[in-house]
Amino acid sequence: MKQSELLDRQYKTYLIFLFGSLAISIGLQYLLGFPWGLITSLALFILFPLIIRRRAMRRMGGYGEGGGFFGQSQSVKYICLTCNNKYKGGACPRCGSKMKRADF
Ligand SMILES: [Zn+2]
Repeated sequence: MKQSELLDRQYKTYLIFLFGSLAISIGLQYLLGFPWGLITSLALFILFPLIIRRRAMRRMGGYGEGGGFFGQSQSVKYICLTCNNKYKGGACPRCGSKMKRADF
């Protein structure tokens, strides 16, 4: 999956949670009345981003190398001159050749 798609999906999830929690908070004002409805909805607004971020971190971690929002795009890739295999650093993992050129 591309980084931009991942970010786009995270943004959509964030919007859904934002509007969802807004609706819930309005509902809570009706159900619980003034002080408790407000306190509960504030707690939700603080907790939701934390939960989303933790889920996102776990998902990003599953992709292994790179990880964060940056890093992955900045690493240089090489193309093997012997077998045209794309790889990162060192020698070609497919044929062991060290003949390579950088790919940007
Ligand atoms: Zn090779």
